[in-house]
Formats: sequence, C-alpha cells, structure tokens
Amino acid sequence: MTMDGAFRLIAAVTTDTARGALAAQATGDDLGLRLAELLTAAVLVRETTQPTRRVQMVWRDRRGRSLVADALPDGLNRGLVNPGEDAPVATDGAHLLQVNYTLLNGSLHQGVVAVADGDDISTALMQYMKQSEQIVSMIAVTALPGPGGVRAVGGYVVQLLPEATKEVIAAMTDHLGNLEPIANLLEGRGRTAAELARVVFEPFEHAELATSPLRFGCTCSEVRVMTSILTLPSEEVDKMLGGDPLEVRCDACGQMYSITPDMLRSFRAARTRSS
Ligand SMILES: [Zn+2]
Repeated sequence: MTMDGAFRLIAAVTTDTARGALAAQATGDDLGLRLAELLTAAVLVRETTQPTRRVQMVWRDRRGRSLVADALPDGLNRGLVNPGEDAPVATDGAHLLQVNYTLLNGSLHQGVVAVADGDDISTALMQYMKQSEQIVSMIAVTALPGPGGVRAVGGYVVQLLPEATKEVIAAMTDHLGNLEPIANLLEGRGRTAAELARVVFEPFEHAELATSPLRFGCTCSEVRVMTSILTLPSEEVDKMLGGDPLEVRCDACGQMYSITPDMLRSFRAARTRSS
C-alpha cells in the first residue's frame, strides 16, 4: 500500500502454479496461455477482495465451452479446460468472463462481464472489478509461451482507495502508462511478486503488508471420489461393488484414484451408519 493510503497493489507471479495446471490438463498453445492468465486473474481477485474465500473464474465462449480456474483460500490453485465437453473452447471471438464465490452469509456471488473479440484478460478483469466489485483498478496480466506451456506468467492490480486525490491518481496513471509492458517486466525487473510490486510502486512511498504462498493443487481425495460415486443410482453402485477396482482420474489435477469394491463397501456402510 502507498503510505498516503491512495493505492493498494497486489502482484502475483504464477509461473510454477500455471505449469502444474497446464500439465494436469495436458494443454498448451493459446488455450494454455489463456488458462494461465485466468488462474492469475482468479488469484488477483481473491487477494484483492477476500483472501479467505475460494474464487472461481470461468472464461466461456459463445457455445458455452469454457476454461475454469479455481483460486482456493489456502493458496492452492487449479484449472480445468472444457469441463464436460469434447470440443475445445474457442480462443477467438467474443467470450464471457464469469466470477463465482461464496459470500460470508453463504449466498453465491456471481459477476459476469462480456469480453469483446480481441480484448485481453486485463481489460476484462478491470471491467469486472468496476462493475461487480465497485473497485476502480489498473490491471496487467499476461502469460508468455515457453517450456511446459508457459515461460512466465504473472500480473498486478493497482486498486484506487478512497484517499486517492486527483493529483496522485494522475501521477499513478502517468507512471503506469510509462512503465514497461507486463510481458517485459516478468522477464526483466519483475521476476518475483516482490520485485514486480517494487517496480510498479517505485516512485511512491509504500509498505509491503503481506505475502501469501501460491501453488498448483487440488482439493480432491479418496473420500470425495467415493462420496461422488455414492450419488449414483444404487443399482449402479451395486454393480461396482461386484466388479473390478475403479480407476478414477480427477479432472482438475490429474490425480488417479483406485477405488476397490471393498473400500466402497466399507465407505458406504460407514456413511449409512452415521446418517
Ligand atoms: Zn484433484
């Protein structure tokens, strides 16, 4: 935050996290870059608004095919390409950017902005922040192609706070306008989140308030897999109990689970007892 209370900055370098997500999704090229940017956007929204909640960000093409990025509260992040669809998401054309999270009172917040053909994620995210969060901000996010799908991914949000005067806003706008593009910063003066933050706030007296770790990861588990199996009709579950072990792959992280009939049987019995 700047010492005059005018601006708050969140910076994130998400290269390793994005590589993990891209490897799990076996995706690369343009779609991989978009997913890496979407993950970064989800992290930035979570940290800007409420770090303790899960933010899900969806980038949807006209036919409803999508990329999904989850920023979970403990710094875990994961991505999904095209859940439930065979054909890939269109990389060009118009899209919708949808942001979902649960509010403290348990209700679901959902914000949607239209992303015009050719608009980048930074533009879409600024619109979202303004429309849905009433946060005026300057945002730069990018993913650069390279080994593992990306060679560098990251971005920042500069958020205007109520203390900001016209003069400091003009000074910040000027400074950001003259700053190297985010793509150059990520491979130059802003290779880490701390460096990026320092460069973006360079002319302004500021203090670093907090840092949070990030990594690729998932919330799946054997218990979750078995819980979802038990939501199937009971005839189907019975069939599984008489068959071979089930090999289940988590769509988000790629983790394989081998569920034997014995495991499923004891799990179901324990659930029946406790309910
Ligand atoms: Zn998983």
